[in-house]
Amino acid sequence: MGASSAQEIWEAALGELQVQVTRSYYRTWLEKTTGLSYEDNQFVIGVPNAFVAEYLNQNQRSLIEKTLIGLTRPDIKVLFRVASARETTASAPTARPKGEARYTFDSFVVSNSNRLAYAAALGAAEDPGRGYNPLFLYGGVGLGKTHLLHAVYHAARANNFRALYVSAEQFTNEFVSAIREKSTEEFRSKFRTVDILLIDDIQFISGKEQTEESFFHTFNELHNANRQIVMTSDCPPKSMPRLGARLCSRFEWGLVADIKPPDFDTRLSILQAKAEQEKTEVPLDVLEFIAQRIQQNIRELEGSLHRAIAYARLFRALLTPELAARALEDIAGKGPMSASLTPERVIKAVAQSFQLTPDDLKGRKRDRTTALARQLAMYLLKEGTSCSLAQIGLEFGKRDHSTVTHAVQKIAAEMDNDPYLRRKVFDIRQGISPAK
Ligand code: ADP
Ligand code: MG
Repeated sequence: MGASSAQEIWEAALGELQVQVTRSYYRTWLEKTTGLSYEDNQFVIGVPNAFVAEYLNQNQRSLIEKTLIGLTRPDIKVLFRVASARETTASAPTARPKGEARYTFDSFVVSNSNRLAYAAALGAAEDPGRGYNPLFLYGGVGLGKTHLLHAVYHAARANNFRALYVSAEQFTNEFVSAIREKSTEEFRSKFRTVDILLIDDIQFISGKEQTEESFFHTFNELHNANRQIVMTSDCPPKSMPRLGARLCSRFEWGLVADIKPPDFDTRLSILQAKAEQEKTEVPLDVLEFIAQRIQQNIRELEGSLHRAIAYARLFRALLTPELAARALEDIAGKGPMSASLTPERVIKAVAQSFQLTPDDLKGRKRDRTTALARQLAMYLLKEGTSCSLAQIGLEFGKRDHSTVTHAVQKIAAEMDNDPYLRRKVFDIRQGISPAK
């Protein structure tokens, strides 16, 4: 990936991380992060605030570095930095490297599941305020709502319209601070002076009375002036819990269009488009396999593709449906290595890399090298197999599980500080890759 930008690498890493942590965890800690820079062995990740920086630094540095190793280099070090608002919006689609946006109409695959939403969004971007107003798009998670909204933004700007994109959460936050700083007039004029207002995840404001009230006025002003409003939500207006009746009926004034989960052929087309975007050759049978496996969420579809690609790259293996299966299987929680990885294989590989024998590792020798090799083998077994701590202990001459826990923690901590050890782990992992 020589020339890839930090953001591109980070997006690939996020694809992988997404399948390694729970959805709510991902949303809370990782979703709003960006790849700011990648130079030498330092990878800087932009985070929304100091709290997230602190949290990720304390809890996820090693997982994140592990993930990045496969995409960058074995001695990669991450640094978390609070990104300025400009850097954050830059990663949301405005300014991609080489000025190329990711979420555009061109990169949106149209099918029966989203045709109406697509056509209406395109219409809004080309002729704002003249067609359906407001345009209300709804659908499940990861089905392309944000993508479409960004696409409207880019197309509208290209047509010289003033467009403003905000998440409903951002809208709410800005409103709250405007009240606190007594600058509500500024707040309102910011929204009043646009041709197209795009609000993502509008369900967020429902039930927040003051925000609803403020949005109600903004909505009326814009609508009266024939300015275009496009909103997205995870459900139709009527199903939004606690949404005030006035707003609910306004949301239905124009067009309410839904986006459904894509069918198989669409999923395949999307995967093909993504592989092409990444300039990565992925065999058709692999794409078919992934399209079959992931059905409900296009973000997961992409995440799985990223994961399969990263997995093949990590192990320098040919990307086949079998390898993809393994990459996705591990999502179920067996860790980044192969299911067929046996303790013997790991112990042998580690022993070899330290010029020791498997018996040395299983035995009682306690010199530094042997002890380190033993701990490393325990760590790799924990990481790469579904063996329990007790089982791992048994492999090493009936050591007990607390010894294994200690080893795993120690190696994880040392890997943070020791590039030599990271390199070693990387090499061993490669040696026991499923390709061999
Ligand atoms: P939502 O906002 O509905 O949760 P997103 O717009 O964030 O979903 O989409 C999730 C991912 O899936 C994005 O990377 C997006 O580019 C991709 N995606 C969704 N729908 C399509 C589509 N029809 N064509 C291409 N990519 C899509
Ligand atoms: Mg979204």
